Amino acid sequence: MTRFRRLLPVALALAALVCGGVLIVRASALRVRDAEDTIRTALDNQGSALLRGDRSGWLREVDASLWPEMIRLYANLRGFELSSWIPRTTSVSGNGSVWHASVQARVCFAGAHCRRDPDSYVPLGDVLTASTTWRITAGHATLTAFAQQFTPAMPAAVPWKSAALTFATGTRVIVAASDDSVRPSTWLAAADRAAQAADRYALSSPRPGKYLIYLAASGEWATAIGDDREAEAFVDRTSKETAFTVVDAAEPPDERLLRHELGHVATLLGTLGGHADWAIEGMAEYIAWEQTPMTAYRLTSAARNHITRTGWKGRLDLDWSTDPTDRVGFYAMAYLAFRCLGATYGDRKLLAFFATVVREGRTPTEAAPPTLGAPWPDIQSTCAPKIRSWLALH
Ligand SMILES: [Zn+2]
Repeated sequence: MTRFRRLLPVALALAALVCGGVLIVRASALRVRDAEDTIRTALDNQGSALLRGDRSGWLREVDASLWPEMIRLYANLRGFELSSWIPRTTSVSGNGSVWHASVQARVCFAGAHCRRDPDSYVPLGDVLTASTTWRITAGHATLTAFAQQFTPAMPAAVPWKSAALTFATGTRVIVAASDDSVRPSTWLAAADRAAQAADRYALSSPRPGKYLIYLAASGEWATAIGDDREAEAFVDRTSKETAFTVVDAAEPPDERLLRHELGHVATLLGTLGGHADWAIEGMAEYIAWEQTPMTAYRLTSAARNHITRTGWKGRLDLDWSTDPTDRVGFYAMAYLAFRCLGATYGDRKLLAFFATVVREGRTPTEAAPPTLGAPWPDIQSTCAPKIRSWLALH
């Protein structure tokens, strides 16, 4: 399953420059600008320290009363291998040595180098937002108050901004949890094997950094998943650069499940779109199961039921349904469609087809001739009997 968070427009605070203002206003504006520059320097210094793993440097501009929270934040950002820190300040106000500022710091993890977007959309899941107070003396700013602002309508699935996380780091994955009852190391081996499978299908350039996996304890899982009691995992795409795979920690480590979810990350990272559910889920199921013997595939009976119930005529790009009565059947049919495309045309062409349909938003009819080398109706006519025979249906 995959979902991505809405990006909310954040109004940029624009400083109105008024020509010919009276002298006292200009002097005040200059003081604000000086204070903002000093705060920005402190934030840049903190970011540099963070990126090089210098905890003392990270705390140098922070009042000791804030160290517990800042140390926890530092540990989480380092745990996810922070690779970009882009701060900005708005609404700077104050006087004398006490100044207030709204701070937003955009972060990226595990090798991703994010840039400040030219448009006004900010991926809120990847941004630390806080009301801050600073003590400025002799041109030097020290953080004395830090109150994070959260978006109540969008609780974070991965609470790296607010909780104390524990981590286990593998070759291609970082596994994290916040609940004491959940041990990230127990999922590490399965996660690394799944990541190696997902890597073979990676479509982003550069390829994904380490895959970020979060093991949600029962309360967290219930909040994250809402009414969707059937789900065991999902991918939370917080931006084009960042995607967290969130797993129900009550389940035992499951390599197939992780291959499916990390497969989403490998094939969708770098985009925010993707509405062809049959292709998105079919690709992820294919990465999970590839050309495994059909007897091993766990959803064959769901596929048979779907075919019988709907009188399936051989269409591969089925209109998706999340109706619980047939949800699993759609996953199974999507897998069989992708399995047939992979078996008939090879994985390289399959990936090109997927990229054209999902990442470029083309229809299968448009995408099939240039990527698979055949018209879509012909492909469906080729695959329908294969799928029926795999399911021993004639
Ligand atoms: Zn999925």
